[in-house]
Amino acid sequence: MFRARPTVSSGGSFACVWLSLRLLQTMEAKRKNEGMSKKSEAEWKDLLTPEQFEILRRKGTERPFTGQYYQTDTSGRYLCAGCSQELFTSEEKFDSGCGWPSFYDVKESNAIRTEEDMSFFMRRVEVLCSSCDGHLGHVFEDGPAPTGLRYCINSAAITLDPDEVDP
Ligand SMILES: [Zn+2]
Repeated sequence: MFRARPTVSSGGSFACVWLSLRLLQTMEAKRKNEGMSKKSEAEWKDLLTPEQFEILRRKGTERPFTGQYYQTDTSGRYLCAGCSQELFTSEEKFDSGCGWPSFYDVKESNAIRTEEDMSFFMRRVEVLCSSCDGHLGHVFEDGPAPTGLRYCINSAAITLDPDEVDP
């Protein structure tokens, strides 16, 4: 008499585990010039005079006929008071009579950027330094030829770097 012997399958199945390759996602967040714009309020306060801070970082406006440069006709370059980027030159400066330093053009068009400003119930175009984002003033369309523009800039937002003059 045969007894059915249970057969034990010793041959277990082998599971093949395939490890999927993980894609390494590299974040490329290299933004140039970020360092300048990303200064903290405290850092700007250290760097700027109270008047410069009020204008450049708080979009303030100096009173007309009080600034350092509205009457200046010294030849030279006008740099951003926040980051020293060259913005205007004395060649484009003209006496607009408005009480602020006025220029009919910028040194390089990419030195500034503009933004619509609707404050004080007026529609104006704000002018900012493209490098540090500092508020410089406003631009109006009542300037002289050839541009017809008047960049009305706060003295405290700029620093004159005068040309060397032969003695
Ligand atoms: Zn600047």
